Amino acid sequence: MGMTRRALCLVLACSSLGLTSKLGAQPQPKAPPKLPPKLPTVPLSIAVAELDGAGVVSDEWLQRQVSEAQRLLEPHGVFVAQARRRRLPARQAKLETAVDRDGLAEHVQQQVINVFIVKSLRDVDDPRLMRQGVRWRLRRNLRKDYIIVAASAMPTTLCHELGHYFGNGHSSVVNNIMSYRRDDPAKVAFNDRQGIKMRRTTRALLSRGRVVPIDKLAKPKGRKPPSP
Ligand SMILES: [Zn+2]
Repeated sequence: MGMTRRALCLVLACSSLGLTSKLGAQPQPKAPPKLPPKLPTVPLSIAVAELDGAGVVSDEWLQRQVSEAQRLLEPHGVFVAQARRRRLPARQAKLETAVDRDGLAEHVQQQVINVFIVKSLRDVDDPRLMRQGVRWRLRRNLRKDYIIVAASAMPTTLCHELGHYFGNGHSSVVNNIMSYRRDDPAKVAFNDRQGIKMRRTTRALLSRGRVVPIDKLAKPKGRKPPSP
């Protein structure tokens, strides 16, 4: 009885995995790993602070942040791309306090993820420390929800903050993108559980209209439509 049931369970397990085959049949070629369904690309509006007439980071620096985020998010079916590029005034280049961070809310645009690149970002809990990035929400209006990255950040900082934006907390697993502990940059990644959470959050943001797919994004106000 026990043996029969165990054998039956094994058969069921095999058939549910699609592993049963007729005796003598040729082995099927291995299917490629199934990727999660592709979600629409989420637009980033990136504002770079200017200091002494120049941006606090180079185009290459910014491109690296975006491409690292794309590389690490795409295996989980989450897609982001830069949709807009703006400037921040010099008075907002060095963020020292929570009030300074709140001040960026005046630049927040609708239907995009807002990213602000600054020269420096002081920790607001321990002012002896500087931060590389933060996901920040205005207490009095939680819809003012944005990412701040400092010029001193490592290339995966934007991706880490997007990980927060898409619903993940910190991880203690070495080389997880949501962990502070890294010993091999080539191994830094999200895990599948985090990927599921990010897809769920992205779908919710899209369905509530908090973000719109990049190809449906309206031009910012004040720009003339192209002449026919
Ligand atoms: Zn974090």
